[in-house]
Amino acid sequence: AAKRAGKDRYARCTDEMHRQHMEARDLPEQLRGAGERGELVLHYQPIVDLALGRVDGVEALIRWQHPTRGLLAPDAFIPQAEESGVVDELTAWVLQRAVADGAALHAAAGRQVSISINVPAAALVRGVLLDELRHGSREDVQLILEVTETTLAEPAAVPVLEEFRRRGVRIALDDFGTGHSSLAALRLLPVDIIKLDRAFTADLPGDPRAGHLIRSVGSLASALDKPLVVEGIEGADQLAELQRLGVVLGQGFLLARPAPLAQVLPLVAPGATVRGLRQPPLTASS
Ligand code: C2E
Ligand code: MG
Ligand code: MG
Ligand code: MG
Repeated sequence: AAKRAGKDRYARCTDEMHRQHMEARDLPEQLRGAGERGELVLHYQPIVDLALGRVDGVEALIRWQHPTRGLLAPDAFIPQAEESGVVDELTAWVLQRAVADGAALHAAAGRQVSISINVPAAALVRGVLLDELRHGSREDVQLILEVTETTLAEPAAVPVLEEFRRRGVRIALDDFGTGHSSLAALRLLPVDIIKLDRAFTADLPGDPRAGHLIRSVGSLASALDKPLVVEGIEGADQLAELQRLGVVLGQGFLLARPAPLAQVLPLVAPGATVRGLRQPPLTASS
């Protein structure tokens, strides 16, 4: 009987595993056409000038309104989308949507507000985005492509990034400091902006090493004449420490969570400042 019970448990276990496996396997199929069906959503998270409290730009972050599973975060479907190649369709949709929303942001702000999208290196290599940009680029939208250090593994992406740059698109190196070749990425990839991964911020303000590292990356960025964005600012103490360290641009839940366009538009309006920075400290430039 014991053997029998064990067998049942085994069967239940494989049923569940089977279900999850099927779900994961079906995901790329379900993603196909999701943009046209209105299931994809972009949320925008402000990138903030820490001295002025002003929104400098926004990052587009994808969500999928899945027909049965609710609103899914990118980690739940981007890896599968990348493996299956359906990520190209998705990335093209993101670019189109972001350019349209970028125009709305520009209108609401009355000034340039950059808009960043995340692009997998493989999608760059396959050339989807350049065609998309040819149809969709607009004078009033300042586009930034965020790539990670893993792009180093796709040398063919470099000329594509350079072509984007020639068309006025800037390149940001995302999650900087988390890979095995951060400095190689700075040396070998055409990069205009450095985004320091939130792992570094997480250790603030308690760990002095984190402070030293952030200050050093700050010097590196200014020596290379590239703006530095520090990610993952969650606490007022972290913000204060980053301001003390001279960090100019930041992103994080304390400042603003990713939100639908309608909620972000008021944050870019003339004179608006973000939460956590209601009363920005006076600086020489303000
Ligand atoms: P990422 O590009 O590094 O984006 C930042 C992620 O950190 C976002 O998660 C954002 O919500 C989260 N975040 C921002 N501030 C804080 C904070 O203060 N604390 C913490 N703990 N997290 C914070 P999200 O939206 O879940 O996106 C996760 C990743 O999925 C992104 O990391 C990016 O690599 C990828 N992703 C997002 N949108 C797209 C897309 O349209 N296409 C592709 N290919 N990848 C995307
Ligand atoms: Mg990003
Ligand atoms: Mg990032
Ligand atoms: Mg990240």
